[in-house]
Amino acid sequence: MSRIIGIDLGTTNSCVAVLENGKPVIIPNAEGNRTTPSIVAFTKNGERLVGDLAKRQAVTNAAGTVSSIKREMGTDTRLELGGKRRTPQEISAMILHKLKTDAEAYLGEPVSDAVITVPAYFNDVQRQATKDAGRIAGLNVRRIINEPTAAALAYGLDHGESQKIMVYDLGGGTFDVSIIEIGDGVIEVLSTCGDNHLGGDDFDQRLTNYLVSEFKQQTKYNIAKDPMALQRVREAAEKAKKELSASTTANVNLPFLAQGRSGPLHMDINVTRAVFEQLTRDLVERTTMPVQTALNDAGLSVSQLGRVLLVGGSTRIPAVQDHVRSLVGMMPSKGLNPDECVAMGAAIQGGTLEGSLISGSAGNGMAAAGNGQEILLLDVTPLSLSIETVGGVATRLIERNSTLPVHCSLIFTTAASCQTKVEIPVLQGERPMARDNKTIGKFRLTGIKRAPRGVPQIEVTFDLDTNGILKVSAKDLGTGRAQEIVISSSSNLSEAEIQQAIRDAQEYAVADSQRKEAMEVRNQAETLVVETKEAFRVCGKELNKADQKQVKNDLANLERLVNRNSPEKITADALPEMKAAMEQLQRSSATLSQLYANHQASGQN
Ligand code: AMP
Repeated sequence: MSRIIGIDLGTTNSCVAVLENGKPVIIPNAEGNRTTPSIVAFTKNGERLVGDLAKRQAVTNAAGTVSSIKREMGTDTRLELGGKRRTPQEISAMILHKLKTDAEAYLGEPVSDAVITVPAYFNDVQRQATKDAGRIAGLNVRRIINEPTAAALAYGLDHGESQKIMVYDLGGGTFDVSIIEIGDGVIEVLSTCGDNHLGGDDFDQRLTNYLVSEFKQQTKYNIAKDPMALQRVREAAEKAKKELSASTTANVNLPFLAQGRSGPLHMDINVTRAVFEQLTRDLVERTTMPVQTALNDAGLSVSQLGRVLLVGGSTRIPAVQDHVRSLVGMMPSKGLNPDECVAMGAAIQGGTLEGSLISGSAGNGMAAAGNGQEILLLDVTPLSLSIETVGGVATRLIERNSTLPVHCSLIFTTAASCQTKVEIPVLQGERPMARDNKTIGKFRLTGIKRAPRGVPQIEVTFDLDTNGILKVSAKDLGTGRAQEIVISSSSNLSEAEIQQAIRDAQEYAVADSQRKEAMEVRNQAETLVVETKEAFRVCGKELNKADQKQVKNDLANLERLVNRNSPEKITADALPEMKAAMEQLQRSSATLSQLYANHQASGQN
């Protein structure tokens, strides 16, 4: 069986890990980095770039570059990218596909299965969208787990003592706080709360705005209207923000940022940590409420917390650390690497499912785990699930923070006499009125036996699986007829759409590998040109005139092809001609190569 990789599909950065000899190991990407920017781009000639390569060209191709797509998961958003309208699932799938490919290169074997993490606050639609993204990328998503749970898992493996902990996770685009109980081989999420729209990106934005306005004061030039310059400022702002975590001032120096009336304009602005803290104070404070709600929901006071873990790159900001300390009255632990521990936890969960970490049935959420190595993961649903009933009321079937998997049935009846069908919106959220919650789908039950209102008995069942994904079913108890009910949410993809996206993704996989081959061949051709030139310089005169002419011709021909097909432009179409030209040069320069090899061996110059 192939290995199950653990993926932290982050808003800003993603990370992939695998269990090796019982320990989670981070898999470096093809560019040699331990995290991969969650950025996708299409260049002008239709080439798809993901990760570091996409990030690098974002300045010059702002319109063709997408970042923070995770914020759009589970919405109806479609983005025009590479000449096509694409769903957030398809774009996320491109990131997942890169992580999969990098993992395959690292492991030297195909990878088909993964555990993927999501923010604890993700609703059902967002979880389903994440699963669909995995499928489109060619991954069998074995389980979706909450990011803070994954972090606790990474933590729990190393530290066995029983305790309740808080995981404070401030990443690039989302904030999650979870209260978790770790003990005796069981990790249970007691409560979770957060903000899907708060993270490091917001800190970058504040600093960017500040730089733009300072620059405008100094030069009268409005960068906000210059997308290329703005992208450079954004990147510089993120860099300065990171520097300010370690030092008290940062210099933002961007030469030739824009073209002013009287020549080029340069940005040179110093930002102090104090200014940065002032610009972002309210963002830090926005984490207070979710912390308090999570504690209340878990029925705990701060004094009952054994530890607070910091997760997510933005927890490196000193003001964030100070704020956490003042909220909980203790120093947060920093034992885990905040950028990597979520992927590590996912890899541990992958190992559990794969059976390499434990024996027994801990993975199904039912076993009473006992011995040291076993880990039982008990996730909770972050939001209550209800259906809309008469008067627009949200009637709850599953309460927030119920442990997964959970199953609940309630009996409903008709509101009008002789009603033969009902259409019931399924809701997610905590508000008493249906309209104030999020409608995640609608279902329709038909063929109800005609009867006075209030007589038919309709049993509605909610089944929430271990991934937090909801299935709804209903049965007319009067006729015994069960209806096949499918939750159809407008923002989830249909099976046909998923299949189409899988085909598109496969096409890209082919295009990617063709391009890789083309680059490799071009590289070999370029090497052959350089080597033959050198051999000719040293030993060319030892060949007869006819051979000299032939080698020169073949060399010029190959060099022309190499120059014509630059690395940015080369496609698979150029390969047959280039390969033929290489073979021709190899043939005609065989004697030259031999002479040169002898020359080298005899140590002459
Ligand atoms: P994550 O999603 O956990 O990878 O977090 C990414 C976010 O953390 C991005 O907004 C980064 O800019 C931010 N980040 C990473 N390192 C630092 C740092 N040293 N100081 C402040 N923010 C950081």
